[in-house]
Amino acid sequence: MLNRRHFALAGISAAALAAAARLAIAGPSEKTAATTFEVTKSEEEWKKLLTSEQYYVLRKHGTERAGTSPLNHEKRKGTFACAGGDLPLFSSDTKYESGTGWPSFYRPLANAVGTSTDKSFFMSRTEVHCRRCGGHLGHVFEDGPQPTGLRYCMNGLALKFIPGSAGGPA
Ligand SMILES: [Zn+2]
Repeated sequence: MLNRRHFALAGISAAALAAAARLAIAGPSEKTAATTFEVTKSEEEWKKLLTSEQYYVLRKHGTERAGTSPLNHEKRKGTFACAGGDLPLFSSDTKYESGTGWPSFYRPLANAVGTSTDKSFFMSRTEVHCRRCGGHLGHVFEDGPQPTGLRYCMNGLALKFIPGSAGGPA
């Protein structure tokens, strides 16, 4: 906290300091880092809240190994919420078997996710993140089923399944 006071004395606002810290943390593929999200936590806070695997996916844009998520086989009615908070992201009504080894959906819930362009690994992909906390969820591709033609390819580690509910608005 001593550092923060020094910066404040030097005339640098806390907001500028936070922005600088985010930039320092952000890797080259983290296009969402500069956006301000409703829920913001320090790296240390996220590490306490999440398992190391969840942290790797949500906060470091990691990808879980295909076929490893128990949510691949989740067929019950319910809602898939962000593992970094509780924002409902997908309804079981829009989940389908894509054969990729990752939980796949053809449409997110309203006002649940945001997207950005991800140019890592010499590809241009559309990255999908939680609208509330900015946590990385996966990518969206244009080879999904109707009615949207979209495939939201999600990391199961980024989601938590809440069974029983109707699944939210379609
Ligand atoms: Zn979230």
